[in-house]
Amino acid sequence: MSTPQKPEEYIKGVLNRDRRMLAKTITLVESGLAEHRKVAGQVLGELLAHTGRAIRVGITGVPGVGKSVFIETLGTFLTCQGLTVAVLAVDPSSARSGGSVLGDKTRMEKLSADPRAFIRPSPSGKTLGGIAARTRESMLVCEAAGFDVVLVETVGVGQSETAVAAMVDFFLVLALAGAGDELQGIKKGILELADAVAVTKADGENIKAADQARQQYEVALHMLSPSGSAWCPRVFTCSALAGENIDTIWETVLAHRKTLQASGEFEAKRRKQAAQWMWRLLEEGIKERVFALPEIADSLSAVVSRVEHGEITAAAGADKLLFYLDKRIKV
Ligand code: GDP
Repeated sequence: MSTPQKPEEYIKGVLNRDRRMLAKTITLVESGLAEHRKVAGQVLGELLAHTGRAIRVGITGVPGVGKSVFIETLGTFLTCQGLTVAVLAVDPSSARSGGSVLGDKTRMEKLSADPRAFIRPSPSGKTLGGIAARTRESMLVCEAAGFDVVLVETVGVGQSETAVAAMVDFFLVLALAGAGDELQGIKKGILELADAVAVTKADGENIKAADQARQQYEVALHMLSPSGSAWCPRVFTCSALAGENIDTIWETVLAHRKTLQASGEFEAKRRKQAAQWMWRLLEEGIKERVFALPEIADSLSAVVSRVEHGEITAAAGADKLLFYLDKRIKV
């Protein structure tokens, strides 16, 4: 994409649910070029009034836990009910590998051929914040295009779960049944974000181990301090391959929504999330601009090296750099 089209063309295309324009608008939103960002800002500003109606679900889990099979099964379950589903991804590793592994179309063959579904791989970017921010904007574009459900997938790399949890209504953690009795592969802190945990691959010989893991997660969630929410996190076993409990998990998403709407937490959460995102973007923007100041960019590595070699303290190093900023601000 070189010169962007007029904002009206993107807006009209998205609101008319034109899939080609939807994909083009997301490409525009993902672009880092100043000219594109400007048009994207206008488009998003106009589309905002048409957002907010979708059910936003975040799904996380270690590689191999079964995310793509789960999303394929859940997505197909939803489209069979006549719902439209957008699948987006936040994959910080795409920044390093140059290509995205999550949301890859070949991983969800059936769903990607489904006319009621739209699958978009993770945008690439330099920072997790940037990647997540683009995904959040893409989510809003999908909502404006009328998608009923947005599934945001992430693999637990570098705080990506926190970023995804901050953009969704319901956060689902997929977990594996372990061989031992410790909780497998779940980082500390992730359970605190979970509205539900689903132990995957509960089929065949794995059923018993999955059920044991479910009990362990129930204990672990019970021990986490109460969040003051009307919702108590739930734990399930499921099998995406056998289609087991996918319906129960979806009913849980709906029950959670109803509970939070009744307690007033739903609107409050969405408002808080919007403000949180503004703060994130503001902080990131400030950081980027400050590090791009020539005085700071020029002396940064030398100052870091002096701190590393014990020539000056960390505080003195930071002060040295902030001094340049102070000077700039006072001018
Ligand atoms: P991801 O890396 O989290 O996206 O995991 P995948 O969805 O690619 O699944 C990893 C492996 O687990 C694949 O070989 C799948 O066939 C297998 N798998 C996924 N879901 C199930 C399930 O419900 N039951 C069983 N037995 N295997 C599964």
